[in-house]
Amino acid sequence: MSKINLRPHHLLCIQKYTGHGYDENFTNNMNKLVEAIRTNPDYRVELVEGGDRLCASCPNFTEGKCKEVDKVKSMDEKVLKVCEFSYGDADSWNSFAKVAAGIFDTPQFEEICGTCQWAELCRNTRIM
Ligand code: SF4
Repeated sequence: MSKINLRPHHLLCIQKYTGHGYDENFTNNMNKLVEAIRTNPDYRVELVEGGDRLCASCPNFTEGKCKEVDKVKSMDEKVLKVCEFSYGDADSWNSFAKVAAGIFDTPQFEEICGTCQWAELCRNTRIM
């Protein structure tokens, strides 16, 4: 089975995804990824530092990095710390997602995601 690389905070974004993205290209890519994961929760994931499978189709990803690199790096590192994950960890989507979901509805969610443009949408979205 193929493996996807994800930056850690995307473990949160994917679970709260409701079809909204930065542009059509990004949303199409996200739709495909979410469909693949929901069809097969055992999908292999590796946690990576920097740009990942989602960043690759994001309009904010230019010259090999996110235009909000400091902000997203901090989000990634907070997710790693709270979940006790490390860059390079590999496991099933389901295993990572279950642990990361423990962040939702806690003060840590506000600390990690509170300044993101999608935060209000995510606060109001229940995960399945
Ligand atoms: S490039 Fe930045 S804004 Fe775009 S998906 Fe990656 S981390 Fe998110």
